[in-house]
Amino acid sequence: MKALGYACPETLEEATALLAEYDGRARPLAGGTDIIVQVREGHRDLDLMVDVKRIPQLRQLTHDADQGLLLGAAVPCCEFYEHAEIASLYPGLVDAAELVGGTAIQSRASFGGNLCNSSPAADTIPALIAHQAVCVIAGPGGQREVPVESFCTAPGRNVLGRGELLVSLRIPTPAPNSGAHYLRFIPRNEMDIAVVGAGSSVVLNDAGDTFVSGRVGLGAVAPTPLLVEEAGEVLSGKPVSDAVIDEAAAAAGNAARPISDMRGTIEQRIHLSGVLTRRTLVKAVARARGE
Ligand SMILES: Cc1cc2nc3c(=O)[nH]c(=O)nc-3n(C[C@H](O)[C@H](O)[C@H](O)COP(=O)(O)OP(=O)(O)OC[C@H]3O[C@@H](n4cnc5c(N)ncnc54)[C@H](O)[C@@H]3O)c2cc1C
Repeated sequence: MKALGYACPETLEEATALLAEYDGRARPLAGGTDIIVQVREGHRDLDLMVDVKRIPQLRQLTHDADQGLLLGAAVPCCEFYEHAEIASLYPGLVDAAELVGGTAIQSRASFGGNLCNSSPAADTIPALIAHQAVCVIAGPGGQREVPVESFCTAPGRNVLGRGELLVSLRIPTPAPNSGAHYLRFIPRNEMDIAVVGAGSSVVLNDAGDTFVSGRVGLGAVAPTPLLVEEAGEVLSGKPVSDAVIDEAAAAAGNAARPISDMRGTIEQRIHLSGVLTRRTLVKAVARARGE
C-alpha cells in the first residue's frame, strides 16, 4: 500500500505553493466525500492531500447587502443551510445543499468540493448558476474570478491551473421580488445521482406579474453544467404566464445535449429538462411573490 502525504496549511500562500510544487500530484482536501473515495478506489494517484479547512478564507460565510454572499469553498452544506439569515436569501442553494447525500454527507461535503469535482450531475452547480455565483480563485500568480457557468470545462475538469485553488464563491444579494428553486430527478427517493437537475431564479416587477429577468441552470444534460441563456431571454420583460414559462422550459429542452447511459436516455433527459425547468420557475415565482 502506498503512503500518502498530508499537509494542513493555514494560509492561501502555503496552500498554493504546495499545489504548485507537487504539480498535479497533490490535490486539495475539503470534506473528502469525493476525493477520499476516489483515492481509495484507485481512480486517483496522489502523493499529497492538502487539507484546506484551516485556511480562513475558505471557511468564511458572510453576507452584506452591498458585497453579497461570500461562501468559502470549504464550507460544508449543513453550515450554510443552518445559517438561518443567509439561507433565507438563497433558497435555490438551500434546496441543492439539502439534496447532497444524507445528513452525514452534508456535514462534510462542501460547495467548493462539489464544484471542483466538476461532475456534470453535481447538485449545487445549477443552483449556483441560477444565483449568479462567481468563483474566486487563488494561485501562485495572484487571484482571479470566473463566472460559475464557465468554471467546468469537461467531466471532472475545470479551469483551475497549476497551483490554483478555489477560495470562495461570491454571490450577489438577490434583487427585491426575486425567488429561486432547485430540483432534480432521481429514480429513488434519496442518495442518488441526478438524471437531470434544474436550478431557476427569477426577478419580478413590484406587482409580481412581469419577469424582470430569469436564469436557468441545468445539470447532467451536457459534459458540463449549463447556463441556458435562451431561457433567460424568453423570460425577460414578459408577463408571468403559463405560456411564457412553457416557452422558457422549451428553450431549456432545446439547450440540453445529453447522452444515454444507465440512468437515463437522451429523450428522457431532454423531456426532463423542460419539466424540471417549468417546475422550478413556477416555484421561483411563488417564492418571489412571498407565497
Ligand atoms: C454517499 C454519498 C452521497 C453523495 N450524494 C451526492 C448528491 O446527492 N449530490 C451531489 O452533487 N453529490 C453527492 N455526493 C458527492 C459529494 O458529496 C459532493 O461532490 C461534495 O460536495 C464534495 O465536497 P467535499 O468537500 O467532500 O470535496 P472533496 O472530496 O474534499 O473534494 C472534491 C474534489 O474537489 C477538489 N477540491 C476540493 N476543494 C477544493 C478547492 N477549494 N479548490 C480546488 N479544488 C478543490 C478536490 O481536490 C477533489 O478533487 C455524494 C457522495 C457520497 C459519498
